[in-house]
Amino acid sequence: MNEYDSERIYDIAKKINYEKSKDFNEINCYVLNTCHIREKATEKVYHDVGRLKKVFRNKKKPIVIVTGCVAQAEGEILLKRETYIDAVIGPQSIHRFNEIITKIEKKYKKVNSTHFDVIDKFDTLKLIKNLNNKISSFLTIQEGCDKFCKFCVVPYTRGPEFSRSIQELVNECNELVDNGSKEITLLGQNVNAYNYNGEKLSDLINKISKIKKLKRIRYTTSHPIDFTSDLIDAHQSSDKLMPLIHLPVQSGSDKILKSMNRKHNIEDYLNLIKKLKKTNPKVKFSSDFIIGYPGETEEDFNATLKLLKEVEYINTYSYLYSPRPGTPASKLKKIEESVMKKRLLIFQKFAGEIKMKYKKSLINKELLVLFENKVKGKNEFFGRDEFSNSVIVKSDENLVGKIEKISIINGNQNTLFGVTKNQDRKEFAA
Ligand code: SAM
Ligand code: SF4
Repeated sequence: MNEYDSERIYDIAKKINYEKSKDFNEINCYVLNTCHIREKATEKVYHDVGRLKKVFRNKKKPIVIVTGCVAQAEGEILLKRETYIDAVIGPQSIHRFNEIITKIEKKYKKVNSTHFDVIDKFDTLKLIKNLNNKISSFLTIQEGCDKFCKFCVVPYTRGPEFSRSIQELVNECNELVDNGSKEITLLGQNVNAYNYNGEKLSDLINKISKIKKLKRIRYTTSHPIDFTSDLIDAHQSSDKLMPLIHLPVQSGSDKILKSMNRKHNIEDYLNLIKKLKKTNPKVKFSSDFIIGYPGETEEDFNATLKLLKEVEYINTYSYLYSPRPGTPASKLKKIEESVMKKRLLIFQKFAGEIKMKYKKSLINKELLVLFENKVKGKNEFFGRDEFSNSVIVKSDENLVGKIEKISIINGNQNTLFGVTKNQDRKEFAA
């Protein structure tokens, strides 16, 4: 979502003639778009600004703006502690970017813009063309969260759940496709809670599936409790909807899920997976896990490993629990750091083995790959298959924007290597 926001900030700033800079040493404005989901985020801001100060010690100071969730959560503190920062802009105020930058240019005092103006924001953004011309683009359709998991800052930094107008989204999809996008990932902190006057995520998927030049649709991140039957059915009815479903579970233990306020248990979660597989046997899953949440015992952790094995996730994102200021979980007693770290290593090793087994199973198979870009300085092209697996292919022909059937000949945990049907299989090894 920050990537989408960064692109939109650029679209806005372009209106007053700011351009993306090619040389860091020559910038006149530095925008640091931040994430506050785990610890050290604020320290990273001070570190980055410190680096900037060194580079510009004997030069004209650039305008320095911190945007994103760290700005929202710690705005006033940042402005007081680091006077090199000129403005902080929360994620729901980015549409005010040009007004703020003009104030700074005119040497107004420091600006703190951290209101929740989400309606205003999208009303302004819909009038500004999305200039993103990537083959695979992001599109924010929903923001904020009403779920209040006890560990999470999102409800406090992004505000309550808000869904953008369906027509506005279809228009933006058309804009992206006209710019050359072939794949769009619909984004939301709870993307499947999308509801605009009764129209749901499945309605949006059906509408944008009709855009001829749009070839692939993905969405992330969905919450298990918002996975309604219409969305399950969309995995059968829309052949543009990709079969990898990111479905964060956080823990395999019902006790921990309850204490996190996740609002579902493992039985509900596994039943949902069963229904999805029944509707479309092709679907596979990825997930987020928090390791070492307060109160997690060996037994709870083993339940997480059991779930990992049962679902056979093809990709996982696992994090050490990080107490976030202001969240209810931050008041709970932390478990020992060494225990948390040991468990994370065990988890990641096991998840890695499952992933490796999956990747190996793809060798000698044919995959449909959408190519996104040429690898810098090489005659190779990077793309992703339907399950978002990264694939690299050598080719003299420009493959960017094309969907090709690729035979996989080799690979590791992160990347698969393949050849097009016209190529010699030995070519890659050469
Ligand atoms: N809304 C999505 C959901 O509930 O499934 C997740 C959105 S959250 C921005 C992304 C991931 O960050 C979460 O799934 C969780 O695993 C991780 N996360 C959030 N707060 C965390 C914390 N305090 N410590 C560690 N990981 C955290
Ligand atoms: Fe955070 Fe996701 Fe829970 Fe919302 S549902 S509070 S975004 S983890």
